[in-house]
Amino acid sequence: MKCALVTGGSRGIGRAICLKMAAAGYYVLINYKGNEAAANETLEAVRAAGSDGELLQFNVGDEAEVQTVLGGWIENNKDRQIAVLVNNAGIREDSLLFWMTSTQWNNVLNISLNGFYNVTKQVLNGMLLKRFGRIINIVSLSGIKGLPGQTNYSAAKAGVIGATKALAQEVAKRGVTVNAVAPGFIKTDMTAELNEKELAAQVPMNRFGTPEEVAEAVAFFASSGAGYITGEVLSINGGLHT
Ligand code: NAP
Repeated sequence: MKCALVTGGSRGIGRAICLKMAAAGYYVLINYKGNEAAANETLEAVRAAGSDGELLQFNVGDEAEVQTVLGGWIENNKDRQIAVLVNNAGIREDSLLFWMTSTQWNNVLNISLNGFYNVTKQVLNGMLLKRFGRIINIVSLSGIKGLPGQTNYSAAKAGVIGATKALAQEVAKRGVTVNAVAPGFIKTDMTAELNEKELAAQVPMNRFGTPEEVAEAVAFFASSGAGYITGEVLSINGGLHT
């Protein structure tokens, strides 16, 4: 059974992606950082969708931990192939740069950008050997347009967009595609404390998107039908472009 690994799969957009992957028949590896109860809810939902999976707890920003937990899983499951990797785990710690601490800067860069490196490094070799793989990175409108108060987050997501385009060219000959999905405002815990009414008014569709609407695009990039698309960034933002 082919596997799909979704980082930050316990909640929000990551959970919706896990369910989409389950519906597509993948065995889902649900990564999370600390919220085991939420991760278990995702696993139950994956099973209810008719598939199966397991939890993999590691901090994507901790290279040694990723190597031990994910590298260990790969070593112990040589009969299984991670065909789809969704680099979804991310955080935001907003502040104007003037007030931003180096901890806020480093935390956000570490989880989004180094997290992409740490996890992709473990999974890529297997994809290259099998001559098939789908890597989908969840970036953000903030990484395309730049948003005030988010220099750390905009830098991290713009960095992942650059890495998406570079890696896409490195591995294209081996049947591995690398694409990114750039959501605008999506209703999750990450946006729970924002003023939805005020911000939705800036969106041409006048509403926040849903995690399921982002998961649809991820499922498309993961599908065999998207085999000739690589290095692409698809915006899911209700018309809120730059
Ligand atoms: P969320 O609801 O806050 O969920 C975050 C998920 O990431 C959780 O599963 C969390 O695990 C996991 N996570 C956080 N830090 C981690 C780490 N160091 N290692 C492993 N997992 C970690 O966020 P979301 O809104 O679904 O966002 C998902 C992705 O979409 C992020 O990359 C975000 O930047 C991006 N995005 C979101 C929006 C939006 O409007 N929501 C817009 C654009 C882009 P635990 O449950 O264990 O804490």
